[in-house]
Amino acid sequence: MDQPIGNIYIVVAPSGAGKTSLVAALLQAEPSVELSISYSTRPARKGEIDGKHYHFVDKATFDAMIDRGDFLEYAEVYGNYYGTSAPWIRSRLEVGQDILLEIDWQGAEQVRKVFPGAIGIFIAPPSIEELERRLRGRDTDTEEVILRRLASARAEIDKIAEYDYIVVNDDFERARLDLISIVRARRLRSEVQCRRLAEMFRHMGTAGAQ
Ligand code: GDP
Ligand code: ADP
Ligand code: 5GP
Repeated sequence: MDQPIGNIYIVVAPSGAGKTSLVAALLQAEPSVELSISYSTRPARKGEIDGKHYHFVDKATFDAMIDRGDFLEYAEVYGNYYGTSAPWIRSRLEVGQDILLEIDWQGAEQVRKVFPGAIGIFIAPPSIEELERRLRGRDTDTEEVILRRLASARAEIDKIAEYDYIVVNDDFERARLDLISIVRARRLRSEVQCRRLAEMFRHMGTAGAQ
C-alpha cells in the first residue's frame, strides 16, 4: 500500500477504561474523523446495532475473510475474534480521509508494522479499582468476562510506553478535551498547514508583494 495521505489514529484501552464513550465524544466534536467498523464474532450486546458498532459475523465467515486476505489486522481478544477491513481502510486513506481504529493492543502492533506513521493513543483508567467499578457499572458482561478483562488490563498497561499519546480518563470532560487536542494538533503541523494553506501563505509572503 502507498503511504497514506489521511491520518490513522489507533485508540487502545483496557476494556472499561472509557474508550467507546470517549471516541464517540471525539467523533461528535470532529466529524471529519471516520471510525472503522470492525468485524467481530462476539455476540451483539443489548443495544448494539450490526453495521454501526460492529459487523457481527460467525466464525466461519470470519475464517473465510482471513483466507481471502480481507483483514488489515485481526486478533483473538477475550475469546472472540476481531478484525479491521483492509479494503475499507485502503479506500478511505486513498481519498485523504482521517480514520480512527478502536482496536486491541495486538491489532495496534500489526497496523503500525504496515503504517509506521499511525498515531497510537492509549486511554488509561485512573486506577484498577475504578476500572473494575466501570466494568461492573456498565452491566454488559458476565462475571467471567469481567475477570478476564481485568487480568488483561494490567498486562496492557505494562506496554503503555509504546504509544505516542496517553490520555488518563479520570474526569471525562478533561479526557475528552485531551483527545480532541491530539487530533487538532496533528492538523496544525507545519507540514499539513503548508500544504493546506499554500495559496494563502504565498500571497502573504514576498511572492504576494510583487
Ligand atoms: P456502550 O458502548 O454501549 O457501553 O456505551 P458507552 O459506554 O459509550 O456509554 C454509556 C453511557 O454512559 C452513555 O450515555 C455515556 O454518555 C455515559 N457516560 C460516559 N462517560 C461518562 C461519565 O464520565 N460520566 C457520566 N455521568 N456518564 C458517562
Ligand atoms: P470501553 O469502550 O473502554 O470498554 P466504555 O466507553 O464502555 O469503555 O466505558 C465503560 C463504562 O465506564 C461506561 O459505563 C461509561 O459510561 C463509564 N465511563 C467512561 N468514562 C468515565 C469516566 N471518566 N468517569 C466515570 N465513568 C466513566
Ligand atoms: P468489546 O468486545 O468490548 O467491544 O471489545 C473488546 C476488545 O476488542 C477491545 O480491546 C477492542 O479494542 C478490541 N477490538 C475491537 N475491534 C477490533 C479489531 O478490529 N481488531 C482488533 N485487533 N481488536 C479489536
